[in-house]
Amino acid sequence: MPDPRRAVPRTDRVLADDRLVRARGRLGDRLVRDAVRTAQEACRAGTVSPEDVAGLAVASLPSAATSLRTVLNATGVLVHTNLGRAPLSRAAVEAAALAAGPTDVELDLATGRRGRRGAGALDALAAAVPDAGGVHVVNNGAAALTLAALALAAGRSVVLARGEMVEIGDGFRVPELLTSVGVELREVGTTNRVRLEDYADAVDEDTAFVLKVHPSNFRVSGFVSSVDVADLATLPVPVVADIGSGLLAPHPLLPEEPDAATALRAGADLVTASGDKLLGGPQAGLLLGDGALVHRLRRHPAARALRVDKLTLAALEATLVGPTPPVPAMLAADATDLRRRAESLADTLGTDLGDDVAAVDSTAAVGGGGAPGVELASAAVAVPARLAEPLRRGEPAVVGRVTDGRLLLDLRTVPPRDDARLVEAVRRAAAGPPSTGS
Ligand SMILES: *Cc1c(COP(=O)(O)O)cnc(C)c1O
Repeated sequence: MPDPRRAVPRTDRVLADDRLVRARGRLGDRLVRDAVRTAQEACRAGTVSPEDVAGLAVASLPSAATSLRTVLNATGVLVHTNLGRAPLSRAAVEAAALAAGPTDVELDLATGRRGRRGAGALDALAAAVPDAGGVHVVNNGAAALTLAALALAAGRSVVLARGEMVEIGDGFRVPELLTSVGVELREVGTTNRVRLEDYADAVDEDTAFVLKVHPSNFRVSGFVSSVDVADLATLPVPVVADIGSGLLAPHPLLPEEPDAATALRAGADLVTASGDKLLGGPQAGLLLGDGALVHRLRRHPAARALRVDKLTLAALEATLVGPTPPVPAMLAADATDLRRRAESLADTLGTDLGDDVAAVDSTAAVGGGGAPGVELASAAVAVPARLAEPLRRGEPAVVGRVTDGRLLLDLRTVPPRDDARLVEAVRRAAAGPPSTGS
């Protein structure tokens, strides 16, 4: 028997392969060497022949120099926190790529002098919400609330209903954020009910503002009552509304979901929201409202610590002025069209999976990003649950939802242009691991 170790091709010989030389230019030395080492080990273990080592290394290279992997979101959850919330529009991706180079983010090219940072994005946001006297953008929704608390309420108190003391995810709790920056919290009402008089009794000369928080990831039903922004605006203190999801105007499919324009018109002095939920943009915190208040926020020393970078500014502007981003497009998708796509994909996959694949009705959701309890009619391709793991480990990874022993691949969250990739991924997963060796 020949010693297989003697047959393992040497690293420098494998690295000389044209494809790997090019990959080193694109991905760097380390990732390519890692792939070569893994392929050599497979050869040593006898699962790949020496002449296939370079090919295996090429096949196992990441598509970019990041450990993050591309995932096809087939969960039916539009804004999926664990999948990075809103996928960016192509326009936003291109804008961010442009901004990655030297760019005039703080330079006025007409005069050669320093310019207003992020002017394009801020002007686009102001134009999208004409009811806002001033706008500002920070790192995320939590940063927007932090800046409002620091600039307007440090050392003073904020009135908040007990039913709106929410936790957003990964341990982020609105009340704890407020107290952590030196705000005294005045809780009013009970878990299920609060009245305007409760707020009125709690407001005193120490009150910086009344905070209205949208419970964006749960719903309480039954004997409940809350006070809306219009009524809170009758109190003699400013009203800050954390609407969460980032809807700028009312959405016909989500009548219960608060939006910035309506909150401002109802009398909110300041609105805070996320950029990467229903707006469908990059991670960002939007602040919209009274011009003088927003000016105070922008001048606060902490504003610098919470500011966004040029990639975010570029992507946000493109989200606001460009074509409809993926999240609003998924929300608007017609259920009949989704069903037709599901049938066509199930048909195509029938050759590989036979009776193991079917088009089924499904129910999608907005997700932690907003509109709790709203069910969106959808359609899915159902495949055997045993494919869940190979699909998750594939390239691109596919994440669906296991229900009743089947894996549902919900098409509401898969852009139509990814249909072919989804089919390919299911085919590969159903075929089992790629056969190695000659
Ligand atoms: C999502 C959300 C936040 C937090 O926003 P991030 O962008 O995740 O920091 C705060 N408040 C509400 C109501 C939310 O829905």
